[in-house]
Formats: sequence, structure tokens, C-alpha cells
Amino acid sequence: MSDSYDIIVIGAASAGMPAAIYSHRFGLKTLIIGAEVGGLLNESHKVENYPGFIGIPGRELMTKFKEHVESFGIEIKQEWVKSIEKDGDAFTVTTGSGTYDAKSVVLTLGSKHRHLGIPGEEEFSSKGVSFCPTCDAAFFKNAPVAVIGGGDGAASAASLLAEHASKVYVIVRKDHMRAEPINLKKMEENEKIEILYNTAPVEFVGENALTGIKLNNPYDGKDVLPVEGAFIMIGSDPQTEMAAKLGVKLDERKEIIIDGHSRTNVPLIYAAGDAANRPFKQTITGAAEGVAAAFSAFEDVRKAEIEKR
Ligand code: NDP
Repeated sequence: MSDSYDIIVIGAASAGMPAAIYSHRFGLKTLIIGAEVGGLLNESHKVENYPGFIGIPGRELMTKFKEHVESFGIEIKQEWVKSIEKDGDAFTVTTGSGTYDAKSVVLTLGSKHRHLGIPGEEEFSSKGVSFCPTCDAAFFKNAPVAVIGGGDGAASAASLLAEHASKVYVIVRKDHMRAEPINLKKMEENEKIEILYNTAPVEFVGENALTGIKLNNPYDGKDVLPVEGAFIMIGSDPQTEMAAKLGVKLDERKEIIIDGHSRTNVPLIYAAGDAANRPFKQTITGAAEGVAAAFSAFEDVRKAEIEKR
């Protein structure tokens, strides 16, 4: 016999936890299921644009969200969701340890690091190649490193790495970066950081560990940029396979199409956060989309109950 809820929120990070706080306050019996509380935000060195916190490590902000959720007695099950299926009027969510039924589901499925797909990327993973500057920056004390990417992820990685490394090269494939001006300015003012525009990595090279990156454009007359660390910060892809199986429509980037109230095309299924097709992928916008999802679920569940009477 499955446990039954009014709403199950899949994902326990910046979109999912606010959704659950609101749905609980709307009187819906709420469950959060998420394998990792905090998700990718745990890897953020410092969040400087979440109002109320002038600068806070991502993991700490997520711990505060969790404490807030738990203060209402909302349960978080730290489990991998294997499937979500429509079962009559309900949805059945199956994890490694059980099944849970719900009248509505909020998908905050997040995203996973994008890979370059070039030789050496897998071979030197954890031997110099990393996707997490917050986790690994301190291993490169006084060593030269590179960051690959031209967005905010790359810009904040470069500033963090410059606190440890002897030199930070930022490899940008275009002739400009698209990071926020404030993040760009911080980089440009840092003497340890050098930006290589119109440049792309072709191969990671080394023997037992990374020693350099072969570039498509020679740097200082050399094809191989000598670095001990390479941080791949080229964005992330939404994890939406489970949504597609449910019949939820995705756009060309495989992000879940939502309306302004976080509704998907499938009744009683909502989405929010990085896996939804919103232009801003920020903690605060994900939280707001989660809140809209909870409000829509509250309205729709109530309406469905009235219609059933
Ligand atoms: P983005 O998608 O914003 O940027 C990815 C960058 O990687 C782009 O410059 C892109 O180049 C480049 N890129 C993509 N694929 C390749 C490739 N194969 N080879 C080389 N370069 C490649 O991802 P981010 O992770 O930087 O940011 C994600 C979201 O999180 C954004 O909304 C961002 O604003 C937000 N964020 C905000 C922070 C903040 O401080 N406010 C901090 C970190 C993230 P191109 O430009 O050519 O497409």
C-alpha cells in the first residue's frame, strides 16, 4: 500500500523546497523526494544575489532552505526517483525504496554538467579535469589552471580559483563573455586571470595527471597551454527524460515547457527551476517558479475535488 499525498515535489533544491513550503502552507499534504538536498547549488562557492544574504556559500543557503522546510514538519525523502506514472486519478512515484501516490506532481529535476566531449576529458577526470571549482580549487595551490566557458559559471570559477592558483586562463570560444558585468569586472581586475578569446580546447594532455590543454589557437606560440587543472564550466543540460516519458512537452533544448503559472501541458504536473524553459536560471527565479507551481497545484487539486463531488 502506497503513502498518498496531495502533492509530491521531485527535487529538493532551490525550486523544490520553496514549492513545498508554499504547498504545505496551502494545506496540501506534501512530500519532497530528492536524491541530493541542494543539487548543483551545493557547488556554488558564493551566492551574492539572493536577497537577504550579501554573500553565502550555495550549500549553506540550501541548508537554510532545508531547515525552513523541516520547521513545518514537511518530509524530505532522500531517494532517487525511478519513475512517475499516471495511475487513474493519481500519479505513482517509484523510488528505490517504495512507491508514493499523489494528486499532483511538481518536477524540479535540475540539470547536469555539460561535457566537452574531447579526448582526455574522461581520462583526466579527477586527475586535473574537474567540473566543481568549489570542491577542487584548493588542490591547485600555486599551480596554473584553466577555466573553460564564457558564462557566469566560468567567471565565478575563475575568481575563486585565483585565490589559490598561480595563474588562471579562461578559455572562451567566442570574442566575448556573456557573464554578468559585475562578475566580468571582478575577473578583469584580477591580475592572475587572463582571458583567451576565440579559443577552444581540443584535447586534454598528460601522463598520470593533466599537464596541459591542446588549443585550436596557439597561445604564446605554443599549441599546448601548460596547466595542472582544467575546470569545465560550459553550462548544464536539463534532466528531463522522466518528464518526457510522462507526456510532458519539452522544447528544442529539452527543457520542460511551462506557462507563467508553472503548469506543463499535462494536467496536475508542474515544473520549475533549471529544467524548466525559463530564460533566467537563478536561485531566486527557480524559487519563484516553485512557488507558482505550488499555487497552481493548490487551485487545480481543489478544483478537481469540487468537480468529483
Ligand atoms: P551558461 O549556459 O550561461 O554559459 C555556458 C558558457 O559555456 C557559454 O559561454 C558558452 O559559450 C560556453 N560553452 C558551451 N558549450 C561549449 C563548448 N562545447 N565549448 C566551449 N564553450 C562552450 O552556463 P553557466 O553554467 O555559466 O550558467 C548557467 C546559469 O547559471 C546562467 O543563467 C548563469 O547566469 C547562472 N549563474 C549565475 C551566477 C551568478 O553569479 N549570478 C554564477 C553561476 C551561474 P557561448 O557563449 O558561445 O554559447
